[in-house]
Formats: sequence, C-alpha cells, structure tokens
Amino acid sequence: VAKRLEKLKATIFTQISKLAIKHGAVNLGQGFPNFDGPDFVKEAAIQAIRDGKNQYAQGYGVPDLSIAIAERFKKDTGLVVDPENQVTVTAGCTEAIAATVLGLINPGDEVILFAPFYDSYIATLSMAGADIKSITLRPPDFAVPIDELKSTISKNTRAILLNTPHNPTGKMFTREELNTIASLCIENDVLVFTDEVYHKLTFDMEHISIASLPEMFERTVTMNSLGKTFSLTGWKVGWAIAPEHLSWGMRQAHTFLNFTIATPLQCGAVAALRAPDSYYADLKRDYIAKKTILVEGLKSVGFKVFPSSGTFFVLADHTPFGFENDVAFCEYLIKEIGVAAIPCSVFYLNQEEGKNLVRFTFCKDEETLKAAIARMKERL
Ligand code: GLN
Repeated sequence: VAKRLEKLKATIFTQISKLAIKHGAVNLGQGFPNFDGPDFVKEAAIQAIRDGKNQYAQGYGVPDLSIAIAERFKKDTGLVVDPENQVTVTAGCTEAIAATVLGLINPGDEVILFAPFYDSYIATLSMAGADIKSITLRPPDFAVPIDELKSTISKNTRAILLNTPHNPTGKMFTREELNTIASLCIENDVLVFTDEVYHKLTFDMEHISIASLPEMFERTVTMNSLGKTFSLTGWKVGWAIAPEHLSWGMRQAHTFLNFTIATPLQCGAVAALRAPDSYYADLKRDYIAKKTILVEGLKSVGFKVFPSSGTFFVLADHTPFGFENDVAFCEYLIKEIGVAAIPCSVFYLNQEEGKNLVRFTFCKDEETLKAAIARMKERL
C-alpha cells in the first residue's frame, strides 16, 4: 500500500458489520436502514432503465437532477444556484468530500476538522497530503471550543471541514456557532466544506446550512446525498453545491475519479427530490419513534446516553459496565450479548479521547431495536 495510506486500517464499519454477521448480532453499528426506500423513487429508476437511459450521463449530472437539487437547495436555504455550473452529482457524499478535498487542497495546506469525525475525512485528507488539525467536541453537549478554534486557525489554514447534523454525536451546530465559524473564515480567508447528509433527520432544532449565512456561499462547498433521507444508501447518489471557482476544482477531481454517476439512479433521484413536504414529515415522525425506543431502552439497560438532536445515531457512555475501553466493550457486546455498536476511539486523532464512547444507530425497524434492547437487558 502507498505510504500516504499505510496508517489507515480497514474502516470500522466494515469490521463491525463482518463481526456482527459472524456472531449473529443485531447490528446497530453501521448506519444503513434495514427497511427499503420509497416505491415512487425506485419506480422512477426502473422506468429510466426501461426507457433506455443507460449510457453515460453528462459528467456533472443529469440536467434534470441538477435542476431538482438546485430547487431543493432553494427551498431549504433560500439560496438560488445555477444548476449547470454550481451543482455536481457525485457517487454519494463520500465522493463529493474526496473530490472537494483532492480538487481544492494542496499538500501542506492545513484543514481543520472536528473530532469525533467520520472516518473517510482523515483518509481523504491524507490522500491529498493535507496537514490535519483536529478540534475535539467534548461531551456532554459537544459545543465548539471557540478559543481553541481561533488559536488553531493560522495563515496556512485552507479549509474547515464541517458536518452538521454531526456523525457520530448527533450534535447540530447552533446558529451562534455557525456565525462564529463564518466570521473566522471570512476574516482569515478560509473555505468551508460541509457534509449535511443528515439534514432532514433533525429532532429538536432546525438545520442551518452555513452557506446561507452572509458572505459564506462564495467560500463554501455544501455536500449532501440521497442515501439517508430516502433510505437508499446503496445507490450512492450525492452532490456538491459550490460557487463556480470552487466547483471547478472539485469537478476536475470528480471527472477523473468517477467521470459520471449511474444514469438511471440519477433519474430516480429526480423523483426523490421532488417528493412532497409530507414525505419529510413522515420520515421525521418515524425516526422520532425509533429514537425514543433506542434511547429509552439504552437508559433502562444502564447506559449514560448523550442527547442527539439530529442524524440516526446516539452516543452512549459504556463505563457503568466496567470495561477497559470502547473496543473491549464492543467486542463483548457483539460476541456475548449479540448486539453490534461502533467503538468511537477511531473517530479521534488522539484515540484516548473516545475510549468511553460507543455509537448506536436507530435506522432499523422497531422490532430490531426492541430485540437489541431485550438482549442487552437480559444479558448485560
Ligand atoms: N455513514 C455510515 C455510518 O456512519 C457508514 C458508511 C460506511 O460504511 N462507510 O455508519
């Protein structure tokens, strides 16, 4: 393996899912729904295949999809963007992040991210040769330590990689935090790359896109996807929205990584993004019910559970059960109790900081959630 990747391990999600299958554990680890996406979206993709929409799409996206993404973005943020030049369809948000970083970051540029962080961020930043600076969001509220952020920004800082709602904590960045980050970025000429894939899974706060704050659109790449909002994680359809001068760099990387994204799935995505508002209301209602089952269940088992305002994850502190660290706890949980969760130390540069934390997902049907709780109640 190349030197720039040799420090990276197999992703924790693959490791845990494999172990869960081996031990017949109920998998509340990797974040993928165990229920299907909506028929009206699947039908649109099937129809596109039947209609012969099976050759390469235009490199930056099927025009209808770029338009639907721009319309959705306007509804969500009030921002009007040019679908042709400012919207790029990617292979999920993970590719959007990779293309953005590879297309806009030079070796040695400093990029700031907030720990705990989604594991692909570090991998992609390593591929680009970025100098990674991490700022830890600490329990119980995972607030942004503003002074630390101020002292971390230097003349070499090129970008801040943001994720709100935040995986794995469920934290949502507040308007005050986003305003502060925005003014620091403007003052220091720093870009923002923001992963907002959980924007429709919010429970007690409104999601705010940092691009919608004054003077921020011109320095922000906003990334999103279909997977979480439409329970279609296997489709890998995502996108990036950015002003032309940033879109150009990310598009250069995207073109030579992927060239283009599966045409019929893009046609399905058009139908998804034109879903009526009631779709989102139903989704939220279903997820609130699932979250309640998981959170109340974990508390009744004896975990300390941290509040989650968005995403389909909650963090819990496993220390009441007396294990040395998160990895030991999760191994026991899978092998002896039959429930899989994600140990969080891998989401930190300094892994010690995550050793008390485990992440559970509630993107599962209610029966599965209840079965996991019953196993833990009985055996833990
Ligand atoms: N985003 C999903 C999660 O956090 C996992 C995706 C993956 O397995 N790479 O669980």
